Amino acid sequence: MTTASGGGTASEESTASAGSAAAEGSAAAGRTGPEDILATEVFSAIQGEAALVGTRQIFVRLTGCNIRCAYCDQPEALEKVPGPCRIEQTPGRRDWKTVASPLGISTLVALVDDLWGALPHHSISLTGGEPLMQGDRVTELARLLAEAGRPVMLETNGTLLGAFRRTLPWLAYVSMDIKLPSVDAEQVRPETQRRFLTAAVESGVTTWAKVVIGPSTDLDEFDRAVDMVASVAAESAGAPMGSPAVGLPSGGIPSAGSPGAMPEIFLQPVTPFAAVASAPTPTQVLELHERALRRYPWVRVVPQTHKHIGQL
Ligand code: SF4
Repeated sequence: MTTASGGGTASEESTASAGSAAAEGSAAAGRTGPEDILATEVFSAIQGEAALVGTRQIFVRLTGCNIRCAYCDQPEALEKVPGPCRIEQTPGRRDWKTVASPLGISTLVALVDDLWGALPHHSISLTGGEPLMQGDRVTELARLLAEAGRPVMLETNGTLLGAFRRTLPWLAYVSMDIKLPSVDAEQVRPETQRRFLTAAVESGVTTWAKVVIGPSTDLDEFDRAVDMVASVAAESAGAPMGSPAVGLPSGGIPSAGSPGAMPEIFLQPVTPFAAVASAPTPTQVLELHERALRRYPWVRVVPQTHKHIGQL
Protein backbone atom coordinates (compact mmCIF):
# COMPACT_ATOMS: atom_id res chain seq x y z
CA MET A 1 0.00 0.00 0.00
CA THR A 2 2.93 2.33 0.41
CA THR A 3 3.77 1.53 -3.18
CA ALA A 4 1.25 1.94 -5.97
CA SER A 5 -1.62 2.99 -3.76
CA GLY A 6 0.31 5.65 -1.95
CA GLY A 7 -0.15 4.17 1.47
CA GLY A 8 0.83 4.82 5.06
CA THR A 9 3.78 6.62 6.45
CA ALA A 10 6.77 5.01 8.07
CA SER A 11 5.56 6.15 11.46
CA GLU A 12 2.17 4.59 10.90
CA GLU A 13 3.77 1.36 9.85
CA SER A 14 6.09 1.30 12.82
CA THR A 15 3.10 0.89 15.10
CA ALA A 16 1.88 -2.24 13.39
CA SER A 17 2.24 -5.77 14.60
CA ALA A 18 4.97 -8.07 13.43
CA GLY A 19 4.28 -8.53 9.75
CA SER A 20 1.79 -5.71 9.52
CA ALA A 21 4.14 -3.07 8.19
CA ALA A 22 5.37 -5.31 5.45
CA ALA A 23 1.82 -6.34 4.69
CA GLU A 24 0.50 -2.81 4.46
CA GLY A 25 3.59 -1.69 2.61
CA SER A 26 3.29 -4.37 -0.01
CA ALA A 27 -0.45 -4.44 -0.16
CA ALA A 28 -0.75 -2.92 -3.59
CA ALA A 29 2.41 -4.31 -5.04
CA GLY A 30 2.68 -6.18 -8.25
CA ARG A 31 -0.09 -8.13 -9.74
CA THR A 32 -3.04 -5.75 -9.71
CA GLY A 33 -3.65 -2.42 -11.33
CA PRO A 34 -4.79 0.56 -9.25
CA GLU A 35 -8.40 0.01 -10.33
CA ASP A 36 -8.40 -3.64 -9.33
CA ILE A 37 -9.05 -5.43 -6.10
CA LEU A 38 -8.48 -9.02 -5.01
CA ALA A 39 -11.64 -10.73 -3.84
CA THR A 40 -12.57 -14.28 -2.97
CA GLU A 41 -16.37 -14.20 -2.57
CA VAL A 42 -19.39 -11.92 -2.93
CA PHE A 43 -22.65 -13.21 -1.50
CA SER A 44 -25.76 -12.42 0.53
CA ALA A 45 -25.99 -13.99 3.99
CA ILE A 46 -27.06 -13.60 7.58
CA GLN A 47 -24.50 -11.89 9.74
CA GLY A 48 -23.69 -14.36 12.49
CA GLU A 49 -21.45 -12.36 14.80
CA ALA A 50 -21.38 -9.45 17.21
CA ALA A 51 -23.51 -6.31 17.08
CA LEU A 52 -25.25 -6.85 13.75
CA VAL A 53 -26.03 -10.52 14.34
CA GLY A 54 -29.10 -11.62 12.43
CA THR A 55 -29.06 -8.86 9.86
CA ARG A 56 -28.91 -9.56 6.16
CA GLN A 57 -25.70 -8.35 4.64
CA ILE A 58 -23.84 -8.58 1.39
CA PHE A 59 -20.45 -10.02 2.19
CA VAL A 60 -17.50 -8.91 0.13
CA ARG A 61 -14.66 -11.16 1.11
CA LEU A 62 -11.37 -9.58 0.11
CA THR A 63 -8.20 -11.60 -0.31
CA GLY A 64 -5.12 -11.58 1.90
CA CYS A 65 -4.34 -11.31 5.58
CA ASN A 66 -1.22 -10.09 7.36
CA ILE A 67 -1.53 -12.52 10.27
CA ARG A 68 -2.41 -16.18 10.74
CA CYS A 69 -4.78 -16.89 13.62
CA ALA A 70 -4.86 -20.48 14.81
CA TYR A 71 -8.66 -20.58 14.54
CA CYS A 72 -8.99 -18.89 11.15
CA ASP A 73 -11.76 -20.49 9.11
CA GLN A 74 -10.89 -18.70 5.88
CA PRO A 75 -7.56 -20.27 4.89
CA GLU A 76 -8.35 -19.85 1.20
CA ALA A 77 -8.59 -16.08 1.65
CA LEU A 78 -5.27 -15.47 3.42
CA GLU A 79 -2.71 -15.34 0.61
CA LYS A 80 -2.92 -12.07 -1.26
CA VAL A 81 -2.72 -13.53 -4.74
CA PRO A 82 -4.93 -13.66 -7.84
CA GLY A 83 -7.32 -16.57 -8.09
CA PRO A 84 -10.95 -17.45 -8.52
CA CYS A 85 -13.69 -15.33 -7.00
CA ARG A 86 -17.15 -16.79 -6.62
CA ILE A 87 -20.07 -14.45 -7.05
CA GLU A 88 -23.59 -15.25 -5.96
CA GLN A 89 -26.09 -14.38 -8.68
CA THR A 90 -29.30 -14.34 -6.63
CA PRO A 91 -29.33 -13.38 -2.92
CA GLY A 92 -29.22 -16.51 -0.79
CA ARG A 93 -29.53 -19.01 -3.66
CA ARG A 94 -25.83 -19.97 -3.75
CA ASP A 95 -25.99 -19.93 -7.52
CA TRP A 96 -22.32 -19.15 -7.84
CA LYS A 97 -20.55 -17.86 -10.88
CA THR A 98 -16.77 -17.97 -10.75
CA VAL A 99 -14.76 -15.10 -12.19
CA ALA A 100 -11.08 -14.23 -12.13
CA SER A 101 -9.72 -12.08 -9.30
CA PRO A 102 -8.53 -9.32 -9.27
CA LEU A 103 -11.72 -7.59 -10.36
CA GLY A 104 -12.21 -3.98 -11.25
CA ILE A 105 -13.44 -2.06 -8.21
CA SER A 106 -16.34 -0.66 -10.23
CA THR A 107 -17.20 -4.18 -11.37
CA LEU A 108 -17.31 -5.30 -7.77
CA VAL A 109 -19.60 -2.40 -6.87
CA ALA A 110 -21.91 -3.33 -9.74
CA LEU A 111 -22.09 -6.93 -8.50
CA VAL A 112 -23.04 -5.67 -5.05
CA ASP A 113 -25.66 -3.41 -6.65
CA ASP A 114 -27.19 -6.42 -8.41
CA LEU A 115 -27.60 -8.31 -5.13
CA TRP A 116 -28.89 -5.26 -3.26
CA GLY A 117 -31.35 -4.50 -6.08
CA ALA A 118 -32.75 -8.02 -5.83
CA LEU A 119 -33.22 -7.91 -2.05
CA PRO A 120 -33.02 -5.11 0.54
CA HIS A 121 -30.02 -5.62 2.81
CA HIS A 122 -29.00 -4.03 6.07
CA SER A 123 -25.45 -3.25 5.04
CA ILE A 124 -22.32 -4.42 3.30
CA SER A 125 -19.69 -6.40 5.18
CA LEU A 126 -16.17 -5.80 3.92
CA THR A 127 -14.43 -8.84 5.29
CA GLY A 128 -11.60 -11.17 4.50
CA GLY A 129 -8.89 -11.99 5.15
CA GLU A 130 -7.99 -8.50 6.25
CA PRO A 131 -9.64 -5.95 3.95
CA LEU A 132 -7.16 -3.19 4.83
CA MET A 133 -4.32 -5.17 3.28
CA GLN A 134 -5.48 -3.74 -0.03
CA GLY A 135 -4.86 -0.22 1.11
CA ASP A 136 -6.30 2.54 -1.01
CA ARG A 137 -8.24 0.06 -3.07
CA VAL A 138 -10.44 -0.82 -0.12
CA THR A 139 -10.81 2.89 0.60
CA GLU A 140 -12.06 3.42 -2.92
CA LEU A 141 -14.40 0.44 -2.69
CA ALA A 142 -15.85 1.72 0.58
CA ARG A 143 -16.23 5.21 -0.89
CA LEU A 144 -18.15 4.00 -3.92
CA LEU A 145 -20.42 1.81 -1.81
CA ALA A 146 -21.10 4.56 0.70
CA GLU A 147 -21.80 7.12 -2.00
CA ALA A 148 -24.34 4.68 -3.45
CA GLY A 149 -26.12 4.76 -0.10
CA ARG A 150 -24.90 1.43 1.23
CA PRO A 151 -23.90 1.37 4.91
CA VAL A 152 -20.48 -0.26 5.02
CA MET A 153 -19.22 -2.39 7.90
CA LEU A 154 -15.52 -3.17 8.09
CA GLU A 155 -14.43 -6.39 9.74
CA THR A 156 -10.81 -5.94 10.66
CA ASN A 157 -8.03 -7.39 12.76
CA GLY A 158 -7.17 -3.89 13.94
CA THR A 159 -3.54 -3.76 12.84
CA LEU A 160 -3.27 -1.65 9.67
CA LEU A 161 -3.81 1.86 10.95
CA GLY A 162 -2.74 3.85 7.91
CA ALA A 163 -5.22 2.26 5.54
CA PHE A 164 -7.86 2.38 8.25
CA ARG A 165 -7.60 6.13 8.74
CA ARG A 166 -8.10 6.70 5.03
CA THR A 167 -11.10 4.36 4.88
CA LEU A 168 -12.85 5.58 8.03
CA PRO A 169 -14.82 8.42 6.38
CA TRP A 170 -16.74 5.89 4.33
CA LEU A 171 -17.61 3.45 7.10
CA ALA A 172 -20.83 3.10 9.08
CA TYR A 173 -19.63 0.30 11.37
CA VAL A 174 -16.30 -1.04 12.53
CA SER A 175 -16.00 -4.54 13.95
CA MET A 176 -12.48 -4.80 15.29
CA ASP A 177 -10.92 -7.97 16.59
CA ILE A 178 -8.79 -7.74 19.68
CA LYS A 179 -6.23 -10.49 19.37
CA LEU A 180 -5.17 -12.57 22.35
CA PRO A 181 -1.93 -14.50 21.74
CA SER A 182 -3.09 -17.32 24.02
CA VAL A 183 -6.03 -17.92 21.68
CA ASP A 184 -4.88 -16.97 18.20
CA ALA A 185 -1.17 -17.80 18.58
CA GLU A 186 -0.25 -14.49 16.91
CA GLN A 187 1.69 -11.60 18.46
CA VAL A 188 -0.32 -8.52 17.63
CA ARG A 189 0.96 -5.52 19.58
CA PRO A 190 -1.59 -4.20 22.08
CA GLU A 191 -0.47 -0.62 21.45
CA THR A 192 -1.27 -1.00 17.76
CA GLN A 193 -4.74 -2.19 18.63
CA ARG A 194 -5.21 0.62 21.13
CA ARG A 195 -4.37 3.24 18.51
CA PHE A 196 -6.64 1.58 16.00
CA LEU A 197 -9.57 1.44 18.40
CA THR A 198 -8.98 5.03 19.45
CA ALA A 199 -9.08 6.18 15.83
CA ALA A 200 -12.35 4.33 15.29
CA VAL A 201 -14.06 5.58 18.44
CA GLU A 202 -12.89 9.16 18.04
CA SER A 203 -14.20 9.21 14.47
CA GLY A 204 -17.72 8.66 15.78
CA VAL A 205 -18.26 5.55 13.67
CA THR A 206 -20.25 2.85 15.50
CA THR A 207 -17.52 0.56 16.73
CA TRP A 208 -17.31 -2.63 18.69
CA ALA A 209 -14.52 -4.96 19.68
CA LYS A 210 -14.67 -8.69 19.25
CA VAL A 211 -12.57 -10.91 21.47
CA VAL A 212 -12.35 -14.59 20.59
CA ILE A 213 -12.07 -16.65 23.76
CA GLY A 214 -10.84 -20.21 24.01
CA PRO A 215 -10.32 -22.89 26.65
CA SER A 216 -6.78 -21.64 27.35
CA THR A 217 -7.42 -17.92 27.37
CA ASP A 218 -4.72 -16.23 29.41
CA LEU A 219 -6.47 -14.22 32.11
CA ASP A 220 -3.89 -11.43 32.24
CA GLU A 221 -4.11 -10.96 28.48
CA PHE A 222 -7.87 -10.99 28.72
CA ASP A 223 -7.93 -8.39 31.48
CA ARG A 224 -5.54 -6.16 29.56
CA ALA A 225 -7.75 -6.35 26.47
CA VAL A 226 -10.86 -5.38 28.42
CA ASP A 227 -8.98 -2.61 30.22
CA MET A 228 -7.74 -1.29 26.91
CA VAL A 229 -11.28 -0.93 25.58
CA ALA A 230 -12.39 0.66 28.84
CA SER A 231 -9.58 3.20 28.79
CA VAL A 232 -10.11 4.08 25.13
CA ALA A 233 -13.81 4.55 25.85
CA ALA A 234 -13.10 6.73 28.85
CA GLU A 235 -10.50 8.85 27.06
CA SER A 236 -12.72 9.28 24.04
CA ALA A 237 -15.65 10.31 26.15
CA GLY A 238 -13.50 12.80 28.02
CA ALA A 239 -14.67 11.46 31.34
CA PRO A 240 -13.59 8.67 33.62
CA MET A 241 -15.38 5.36 33.46
CA GLY A 242 -18.27 5.25 35.85
CA SER A 243 -19.06 8.92 35.46
CA PRO A 244 -22.67 9.81 34.74
CA ALA A 245 -21.25 12.03 32.02
CA VAL A 246 -20.57 8.99 29.89
CA GLY A 247 -23.86 7.32 30.70
CA LEU A 248 -22.67 4.35 32.67
CA PRO A 249 -25.47 2.68 34.57
CA SER A 250 -25.77 3.05 38.28
CA GLY A 251 -28.37 0.38 38.88
CA GLY A 252 -27.73 -2.23 36.22
CA ILE A 253 -26.80 -2.88 32.66
CA PRO A 254 -29.24 -2.50 29.78
CA SER A 255 -30.00 -5.66 27.85
CA ALA A 256 -28.30 -4.43 24.74
CA GLY A 257 -26.41 -1.52 23.36
CA SER A 258 -24.04 0.96 24.88
CA PRO A 259 -24.27 4.71 25.17
CA GLY A 260 -22.39 7.28 23.18
CA ALA A 261 -18.81 6.47 22.43
CA MET A 262 -18.71 3.29 24.48
CA PRO A 263 -17.59 0.49 22.18
CA GLU A 264 -19.20 -2.77 23.19
CA ILE A 265 -17.09 -5.85 23.66
CA PHE A 266 -18.36 -9.08 22.16
CA LEU A 267 -16.87 -12.22 23.61
CA GLN A 268 -16.97 -14.89 20.93
CA PRO A 269 -16.29 -18.44 22.10
CA VAL A 270 -13.95 -19.96 19.56
CA THR A 271 -15.49 -22.41 17.12
CA PRO A 272 -13.15 -25.43 16.86
CA PHE A 273 -11.44 -25.37 13.47
CA ALA A 274 -8.02 -26.21 12.08
CA ALA A 275 -5.49 -26.06 14.94
CA VAL A 276 -8.16 -25.31 17.54
CA ALA A 277 -9.56 -28.52 18.97
CA SER A 278 -12.09 -27.32 21.51
CA ALA A 279 -14.30 -24.45 22.59
CA PRO A 280 -14.31 -22.99 26.09
CA THR A 281 -16.60 -24.80 28.51
CA PRO A 282 -19.89 -23.17 29.56
CA THR A 283 -18.33 -22.45 32.94
CA GLN A 284 -15.31 -20.79 31.36
CA VAL A 285 -17.58 -18.58 29.24
CA LEU A 286 -19.54 -17.51 32.30
CA GLU A 287 -16.37 -16.81 34.25
CA LEU A 288 -14.79 -14.77 31.46
CA HIS A 289 -17.99 -12.81 30.98
CA GLU A 290 -18.13 -12.07 34.70
CA ARG A 291 -14.47 -11.12 34.73
CA ALA A 292 -15.01 -8.66 31.88
CA LEU A 293 -18.18 -7.17 33.38
CA ARG A 294 -16.30 -6.34 36.57
CA ARG A 295 -13.95 -4.17 34.50
CA TYR A 296 -16.29 -2.74 31.83
CA PRO A 297 -20.09 -2.91 31.68
CA TRP A 298 -20.67 -3.21 27.95
CA VAL A 299 -19.85 -6.83 27.31
CA ARG A 300 -21.98 -9.43 25.56
CA VAL A 301 -21.35 -13.05 24.65
CA VAL A 302 -22.29 -13.91 21.07
CA PRO A 303 -21.04 -17.12 19.45
CA GLN A 304 -20.71 -17.58 15.71
CA THR A 305 -24.46 -18.06 15.26
CA HIS A 306 -24.29 -18.63 11.51
CA LYS A 307 -22.43 -21.86 12.15
CA HIS A 308 -25.19 -23.06 14.46
CA ILE A 309 -27.84 -22.63 11.77
CA GLY A 310 -25.85 -23.97 8.87
CA GLN A 311 -25.17 -20.65 7.14
CA LEU A 312 -22.08 -19.45 5.33
S1 SF4 B 1 -7.22 -11.87 11.19
FE1 SF4 B 1 -9.10 -12.91 10.53
S2 SF4 B 1 -8.71 -13.51 8.39
FE2 SF4 B 1 -6.70 -13.02 9.33
S3 SF4 B 1 -5.93 -15.00 10.05
FE3 SF4 B 1 -7.00 -14.00 11.77
S4 SF4 B 1 -9.12 -14.82 11.68
FE4 SF4 B 1 -8.14 -15.25 9.67
